[in-house]
Amino acid sequence: MDRRTFMTAGATASAALLLSGCNESGRQAIDYSKHPSQELSSSDEYSSAPHKKVTLRLATSWPAGFPIMGTGIERFAERVKAASGGSLIIKVYPKETLVPALAVFDAASTGEIDAFHSGPYYWKGKNSAFALFSGTPFGLTAEEISSWMLFGGGMELWRDMYGKHNLYPLLGGNTNVQMGGWFRKPIRSLEDLKGLKMRVPGIGGEVFSRLGVNPVLLAAGDIYPSLERGMIDATEWVGPALDLQMGFHKVAKYYYSGWHEPGSVLELTFNKQVWESLSPQHQAILQIASEEMSNRMALEFHSANIKALKEMDGLGVKIASFPDDVNRAAKKALDAYLSEESARNPDFKRVFSNMQSYLAESRAWSNIGLGAFLNVREG
Ligand code: CA
Repeated sequence: MDRRTFMTAGATASAALLLSGCNESGRQAIDYSKHPSQELSSSDEYSSAPHKKVTLRLATSWPAGFPIMGTGIERFAERVKAASGGSLIIKVYPKETLVPALAVFDAASTGEIDAFHSGPYYWKGKNSAFALFSGTPFGLTAEEISSWMLFGGGMELWRDMYGKHNLYPLLGGNTNVQMGGWFRKPIRSLEDLKGLKMRVPGIGGEVFSRLGVNPVLLAAGDIYPSLERGMIDATEWVGPALDLQMGFHKVAKYYYSGWHEPGSVLELTFNKQVWESLSPQHQAILQIASEEMSNRMALEFHSANIKALKEMDGLGVKIASFPDDVNRAAKKALDAYLSEESARNPDFKRVFSNMQSYLAESRAWSNIGLGAFLNVREG
């Protein structure tokens, strides 16, 4: 709310106090202008005149109707259309219908498309720091990384780094905690991982490779046949809801809980000039709808995973956690990777150290808050 709107909305003594930076109890009022997710236009010129119709072309990295992620962005487009009274149309192009799934970053950067919905871990090859905006193994939970983004400086860093590629990111969702993956044989110790071929991308793949696994990258449609024929021994995907649809349980019975993607952030990224050319009203609608989509997606994953996990009861799936020696070795391998990459890439160091300080502080509260509560609830 800008100053003028605030005052005309009803100026009172307490409003004046708020504007001066204090509330009635004398505490400092929150300065929302510091948080980019809630940034507001400084313009006083909010127009009530009908908007010129704007149509933006948005490409995704998901197939048409892909559950939760694909349906989420389609719903987002509907919400934006409704909230803007039809003056802002987001035309969603599923993967390959406009540009290939993994060409969306470059296409938006050059202005070939206006925006995309994808995941920042896909752009690790352009700059390893980008993968950090999705999260790290053993790192921030879905809730923690969202709070780092909005209140801990994550979004500012992300916008700064994407700005150099002519891009402007908004939050595009969160997968919530992911499962460690499906294995054809049980993993009883670190030895059992040696030499396995596993589909596992991102920093998780780096960690598994240091544990003796051969990480492979496969397109979504190739994973099931490869696992069925034994061309790969294991795969991770997302979590119960999406994994069950892929049918992995039919060819690999051992399903391990995960640490490699504790809460992967998805992105809704715009070409920077396109973003800047939008009216303050349209920008606000996109900001609001992006936060709604982001929160809703994490909650939808939670709900869908509850149902899918229950369905697995009758399917002979053997659910377990990785043995302690695997977890210990994975933490060690991760630390080695993070310090090597921080030494190699200053951007990586900058993002990682910011994220790591947030985790160091968040850990204390998460453990005494949610962690202690879950122990008591389940104890
Ligand atoms: Ca995954």
